[in-house]
Amino acid sequence: MAQKRDYYEVLGVSRSATDAEIKSAFRKKAKEFHPDLNKDDPNAEEKFKEVQEAYEVLSDEEKRKMYDQYGEAGVKGSSGFGGFGGFGGAGFDASDFDFGDIFDNIFGGGFGGFGTKSTKNRATRGSDLLMQIKLSFDEAVYGCKKDLNLDVVEDCDECDGKGGFNEETCERCHGSGTITSEQHTILGSFVSKTTCPNCKGTGKTFAKKCSKCNGKGKVKNNRTITVNIPAGIDTGDRLRVSGKGNPGTNGGPNGDLYLEFSVSKHEYFERDGDDIYLEVPITITEAILGCKKTIPTLYGNIKLTIPAGVDSLDKQRIRGKGIDNQSKNTKGNMYVVMKVITPKKLSKEQKKLISALDNTDLEDSEITAFNKFVDKNE
Ligand SMILES: [Zn+2]
Ligand SMILES: [Zn+2]
Repeated sequence: MAQKRDYYEVLGVSRSATDAEIKSAFRKKAKEFHPDLNKDDPNAEEKFKEVQEAYEVLSDEEKRKMYDQYGEAGVKGSSGFGGFGGFGGAGFDASDFDFGDIFDNIFGGGFGGFGTKSTKNRATRGSDLLMQIKLSFDEAVYGCKKDLNLDVVEDCDECDGKGGFNEETCERCHGSGTITSEQHTILGSFVSKTTCPNCKGTGKTFAKKCSKCNGKGKVKNNRTITVNIPAGIDTGDRLRVSGKGNPGTNGGPNGDLYLEFSVSKHEYFERDGDDIYLEVPITITEAILGCKKTIPTLYGNIKLTIPAGVDSLDKQRIRGKGIDNQSKNTKGNMYVVMKVITPKKLSKEQKKLISALDNTDLEDSEITAFNKFVDKNE
């Protein structure tokens, strides 16, 4: 076994550190190296165990005294989590170290999987990826195909994802994947189980390592994949592309890729969910007398009859001419919104005609009612 680092050094505290200082240093270091949190450092788990081991000894008055006096030999056998299984009846008891409580505090209970088995070899699904995609109004409304350029982690084709050739049983652990060692100390005997470093717990080794993937069994390939975007996508909608996220570890599946869309605005059509609004400018005479107008829709032009006497902001519904939403299997409506345009430039002749209109009785009940309110408000 390699020479162990000094426990005080591991926690980064002085030999005269108080219990509180040791506890605080442990929390900091444990958080730093917890393998579920620290994915960048390949040795995180080893360091985490080292920190754990150091704390286990230094946080206990008896054990710390032993360690100060005899060094590592005084407390040997306390190695990491794997050792707890073998503590029965000897020396010190794991139960007086309440790490469940501490880790619940630090990691929100995320301590699963750390029993006697190392997380290092657990098949873990890769994490999901999120990619932002911009769509034009038309692409979103009618659906489209998009080519995405991605780095995809796939099984190495050279070794079929195995990582090597000519599989054989690991000589070091004889295929069990773990190494058991018994240690005799003044505190008693301890059995500790550790993951076999030779085969990394698989129990198998290869006579020849695959050079293409460097034994990893996975390679990163740049791929262009074509994704069908269904009609009706709106800003904020997400689409899952299965298995195109980050790679899993130890044979775990890849995560998924999520596409999140933002859709551009149209110059005229305004979208509200699957409904489409279109503002249509009409003249005052069209508003007064009614008319037939050609109206653009998402599905070509149509003739619309606008009744006599419409006001600005009056809406006319055209059923089923909204968005044909493929993923929801629904169809929106279209709303034509009137915008009565008051002429700004009138000829002398036009002014005369309009003034003539004013002399006729055009007042309706709404204007009469409002005028009454004005009078009362004086
Ligand atoms: Zn082995
Ligand atoms: Zn390979």
